[in-house]
Amino acid sequence: MEAAKALDDKHYRDSLSNVNKKGKRLWIFPKKPSGGYYKARSIVSWALMALMFSGPFLKWHGHPLMLFNVLERKFILFGFPFWPQDFKIFAVAMLTGIVFIILFTVVWGRVFCGWVCPQTIFMEMLFRKIEYWIDGDWKQQQRLNAMPWNSEKIRKRTLKHILFFILSFIISNTFLAYIIGIDELKLMMVDGPLDHLGSFISLLIFTGVFYFVFAWFRELVCIIVCPYGRLQGVMLDKKSVVVTYDQVRGEPRGKISKKEDTSHLGDCIDCNLCVNVCPTGIDIRNGIQLECINCTACIDACNEVMTKIDRPTGLIRYDTVEGVEKGEKWKLSGRAIAYSAVLVLLLGILTAFMIMRDDVEAVLVRTYGTTYQYQGNDTISNLYNVEFINKTFTEKKIELRMEDKKHANLLIIGGDSYAAAPGELVDGTIMVKVPVSQIRSSHFKLPIGVYVEGEKIKTFEAGFVAPVKH
Ligand code: SF4
Ligand code: SF4
Repeated sequence: MEAAKALDDKHYRDSLSNVNKKGKRLWIFPKKPSGGYYKARSIVSWALMALMFSGPFLKWHGHPLMLFNVLERKFILFGFPFWPQDFKIFAVAMLTGIVFIILFTVVWGRVFCGWVCPQTIFMEMLFRKIEYWIDGDWKQQQRLNAMPWNSEKIRKRTLKHILFFILSFIISNTFLAYIIGIDELKLMMVDGPLDHLGSFISLLIFTGVFYFVFAWFRELVCIIVCPYGRLQGVMLDKKSVVVTYDQVRGEPRGKISKKEDTSHLGDCIDCNLCVNVCPTGIDIRNGIQLECINCTACIDACNEVMTKIDRPTGLIRYDTVEGVEKGEKWKLSGRAIAYSAVLVLLLGILTAFMIMRDDVEAVLVRTYGTTYQYQGNDTISNLYNVEFINKTFTEKKIELRMEDKKHANLLIIGGDSYAAAPGELVDGTIMVKVPVSQIRSSHFKLPIGVYVEGEKIKTFEAGFVAPVKH
């Protein structure tokens, strides 16, 4: 692999594309992208943004469809309420999410970054488009940047930053609506910020952060902050599908000329268009790089060039490094199928957890440190602690019933009926009495049923202790 070796000999991996030798940031002015992938990405982005911005307004049975109220520890996912007591489902979901991300990345590379990540979508599909609209394409942007502060520059910069700030404010409101709920947000607007100071300060902080990120920090989020981006080095391998340059076909690169014989050259005409459109400022021809967010802008740019010079498209394409080196067309490998099957399995387990989750969680244990008690001469009692968590939006009536027909005269004293408000945890202590005449051993089980609104959800086999000889 002469070409690959030649590329690897370069020192592009030793420094960031947007930092100069003195360590100063180089501002990136990417050329406006266009092409099939860009169109497809725009459609996906608009659909995702429509979903995100309308999300807080969507309700299910009068409650938000999605809510992530960390402060009050209230979570709603697709209309299902989750409480802190659902932590185990949350933990499984987190684990599934992590494994999912790792396996997905190993097989499909950074598809998420280019197509789904909010940072890329907001930056490339909202803020960058405003910038192109006000400042023009990359050359005009460079010219504007270099010019002294005259009326044109002041007007354009002011307009752009006002729009950036408004957009950041709208995004912040949306994020806040997912945290505190749209009703609370509306209340803040009606009552005024002083009555909801905490939420208002959060809103200002969010707006400031978003404005800073999209107006200035930009690609640095992906390059130096995002942990997912930093992990690419250990997750990607030669079989991962990534945006890649076909150096076998493209090298040696060089300008084509009608006057000279350039038949020894590869397909890359060294036009630099793929570099000019890159929002992170890299040259994909150097190979897979941490900075590449798989935005596909370089694929579109190169395809356009290839079409113009009448050569096959796909010099830059989605492919595996191995696919490029061996010249084989990418196909779903056994590994990709196996990993995808694991992903489906994990999602299945999580779905099963969600479906099997009870509306009311019940706990019944014998009171710690107690043993049997005599109630007169003919009855023995045991104490138990009970705890119920109502995980729904409606009040629930919960009852305990002794299920043992043989011992129908057993009594539950001290609260066999409870009312739990939405999200409320109620607890209590119950006493179970057994006539001495019915006791056959020192330790036996008693089935106690838990009924929610008259429907049995669970039966506890409560251990009962009694004196040895009776
Ligand atoms: S756009 Fe294509 S032809 Fe032009 S430099 Fe990039 S890889 Fe080469
Ligand atoms: S190299 Fe291509 S896919 Fe990667 S960030 Fe740059 S333009 Fe996007």
